[in-house]
Amino acid sequence: MTFRDFNLDSRLMEGLDAMGFEKPTPIQEKSIPLILDKKNLIACAQTGTGKTAAFILPVLHNLLVNKSQGINTLVLAPTRELAMQIDQQIEGFSYFTNATSIAVYGGGDGQTWTQQKRALAKGADIIIATPGRLISFLGSGKVDFSSLKHLIMDEADRMLDMGFFDDIMKIINTLPEKRQNLLFSATMPPNIKKLAGKIMPDYEEVAISISKPAEGIRQGAYMTHDSQKEPLLLSILKDKIYKSVIVFASTKEKVKNLTRSLKQRGEEVRQFHSDLEQIEREKLMQQFKGKKVRILIGTDILSRGIDVEGIDLVVNYDVPPDPEDYVHRIGRTARAESTGTAFTFINPKDVNRFKGIERLIEKEVPKLKLPEELGKGPDYEQSSHHDKGRGGGRNKRNFRAGGKRKGQDRNQGRRNKRRN
Ligand code: ADP
Ligand code: MG
Repeated sequence: MTFRDFNLDSRLMEGLDAMGFEKPTPIQEKSIPLILDKKNLIACAQTGTGKTAAFILPVLHNLLVNKSQGINTLVLAPTRELAMQIDQQIEGFSYFTNATSIAVYGGGDGQTWTQQKRALAKGADIIIATPGRLISFLGSGKVDFSSLKHLIMDEADRMLDMGFFDDIMKIINTLPEKRQNLLFSATMPPNIKKLAGKIMPDYEEVAISISKPAEGIRQGAYMTHDSQKEPLLLSILKDKIYKSVIVFASTKEKVKNLTRSLKQRGEEVRQFHSDLEQIEREKLMQQFKGKKVRILIGTDILSRGIDVEGIDLVVNYDVPPDPEDYVHRIGRTARAESTGTAFTFINPKDVNRFKGIERLIEKEVPKLKLPEELGKGPDYEQSSHHDKGRGGGRNKRNFRAGGKRKGQDRNQGRRNKRRN
């Protein structure tokens, strides 16, 4: 199947070409026809599976085919970062069209407030908003939703976890009753269905089940103090059977430092993160695919959507924040029947998070002994007792939400405090 099969407007196809999208992902394949068919929908698929395009493409298509006046679509998203990301993707897809969008989110100064307020009053085809911020604008009476056709809730599970239920209902009460409702979510907790039952008379459901790591992956984990991570990585990299290696670190800064440090030790290594231009990233991927670069160090953007054959080793220099991300990351090795190795470095603070991963994959990952020369590492079971209530399994959404407090609406911050 290709994007051609959806018969999307040719201007969107141009946008897709420019963005390098060729084949729809499974959630796109299932959702896009239903949305084009004007159905209400709950769609559930894990992080990084292309949910944004799944809702944006059919909505943009509809907009282009039936050009409407006023605000056509409202997208609600839990955080400022996500609202901005969605807006950027919309800009990409609609590059060859005249569709307009604005993002409305908290944080920022008085000037941003005024700008957003003016933009809202003026209207745009698509508004992407965090609930708290939108509510504070609704009071001004200058937002006209009377011609709205689509309501989209992205990361609906996270919005509900963050305590946005009342705000969402308040917003929905200002929308025309006749509209298409689309709920997108990484997980499907019962409260999503409760919300769905309240806001739409009937709906279709599509779910792509979470993929378990392929059988061919040999997984192992090391308990380490932070100071032991770099020597441990170096000692693993000494093994030249690993010809193609990806190392994931939690932040851009870590990626940069680690790259510098490994280079100084004569390793053939390159870095991959959001500071690189798209074109640089693509060039780098080509070199890596062509085995001209042995080691790639990157943040999580590296785990999304890349398809490189024959990676021998994935190293999680830090435990990924979200259990699904673990599956994504180690899925970079052992693709299509081949075998591969995945090592994770766990510091004492991350033990509970790692236990969440083991619950998700329903498997205990063997804990490996540090090389002698590195001295003793912390103890896995001991460490987990120090750290009750953090991260892992069912708490992960709250945990993640808490970690992003900085960029959220004022109200959101307050809510998180109450919840965590
Ligand atoms: P989700 O919302 O499910 O977490 P995103 O919509 O953010 O996932 O998509 C993850 C990444 O995959 C983005 O970088 C996006 O550009 C890319 N992507 C999505 N769909 C496709 C596709 N069909 N082909 C190539 N890349 C895609
Ligand atoms: Mg998403």
